[in-house]
Amino acid sequence: MTRFSKRLAIALVFLTTSSASLAEAQSAAPDVPPSAAQPHVTAIKAGHLMDVDAAKVLDNQTILIRDNRITAVGPSVTIPAGAEVIDLSNMTVLPGLIDCHTHLADGIHDPEPVNRARKLPAQLALESVPNARAMLESGFTTVRDVGAYRALTDIALRDAINRGDIPGPRMFVAGAYLTITGGAGAMTGLAPDVTLPWDLRYGIADSPWEVRKVVRQLAHDGADHIKVLSSGAVLTHSSNPNSREFTPEELHAAVDEASSFGLRVEAHAHSPEGIKNAIRAGVASVEHATLIDDEGVALAKQHGTYLDMDIYDEECIQEEGKAGSMPKDFLEHDAELGRAQRENFRKAVAAGVKMSFGTDAGVCAYGTSGKQFAFMVKYGMTPMQAIQAATSNAADLLGHSSELGSIKPGKYADIIAVEGDPLTDIRVLENVKFVMKNGKIYKP
Ligand SMILES: [Zn+2]
Repeated sequence: MTRFSKRLAIALVFLTTSSASLAEAQSAAPDVPPSAAQPHVTAIKAGHLMDVDAAKVLDNQTILIRDNRITAVGPSVTIPAGAEVIDLSNMTVLPGLIDCHTHLADGIHDPEPVNRARKLPAQLALESVPNARAMLESGFTTVRDVGAYRALTDIALRDAINRGDIPGPRMFVAGAYLTITGGAGAMTGLAPDVTLPWDLRYGIADSPWEVRKVVRQLAHDGADHIKVLSSGAVLTHSSNPNSREFTPEELHAAVDEASSFGLRVEAHAHSPEGIKNAIRAGVASVEHATLIDDEGVALAKQHGTYLDMDIYDEECIQEEGKAGSMPKDFLEHDAELGRAQRENFRKAVAAGVKMSFGTDAGVCAYGTSGKQFAFMVKYGMTPMQAIQAATSNAADLLGHSSELGSIKPGKYADIIAVEGDPLTDIRVLENVKFVMKNGKIYKP
């Protein structure tokens, strides 16, 4: 459906129904058909329930779900006759996890970006179908997907999931990388006389007005947020992670233009200057934040900026380095950065900066994001803080706290369960046993 006809359809709904049902029509997740006269009622018996808002575990709770929404939670909720009862009384039940930094739509795992130029966008989109399934089945019911090399393949993947064509998490997508010429989000490593197809140069911008133009195009094409690259990158050819890329003027233009479409901006940044430029420009989160200095930590706290630090994927980069499958220049970029990032993560946690959970999924195998929890605890978080980073904090960063991030009446029925107690052994989150998204069970 084009954006125009979607608006028309919403307008028609408005003309024929009350305004209350208009709100429902706009916010209802699309992969569950609109409820007929008989709603589907599900009751989950939770032995232990993680209340991430109150930072405590409640015992023997019942969660009542009507179609795709939670309607009641408590110790003495009456289960209506005819309800489907799911017994998780031996398990710990948590809100669906949220990974705020994924790349699901880049096809099969491949550390060499140039290989995306060897495949058509349709191939990459279809190769990405198992990525989405692996993410969901590992307990991540929502992702903020922060860029695809072939622009808009992420939108195709998101929409296929929303239609119910394929299983996958709720995707909030960037559409493309907004980056300088030759920048961290550009397709580099090719001869200078190679002319790239439109979707491999979609997000390149070299002035505030070019930045605004790309943001306008992304908003029109259906992006849910904007990803800018404010420093060089580790996994990009001819890039220096310690550099500055976009200028403060360009970053301001991105945030200002995005805000006029109701979109938030996240900034990739490794270098101290790239990080601080992005925070001062008003981004919602800094990705990686690898070399953040004390001034950067103070600025993030002052501005309420989230740090979305992928402190696990270093393991996979080094492992692939040993196996010989990681390009050599990427390993040179990476030397020492992993260690510095983990130390700076500890510093930011201690300073009380807002932290979200983001893994750069795609660097490690899809479906292994849960392994980052143990590293977040190792580097200074309590288990509850690590879980909040991937639930209530992540929902706040997305701007969807009223619908996601905890198990509360009115929110989407995105619910997972694990064996054991994640507060005493965080690694149980690496093995999620039950997954429900939008009221539908994907892992029984
Ligand atoms: Zn990334």
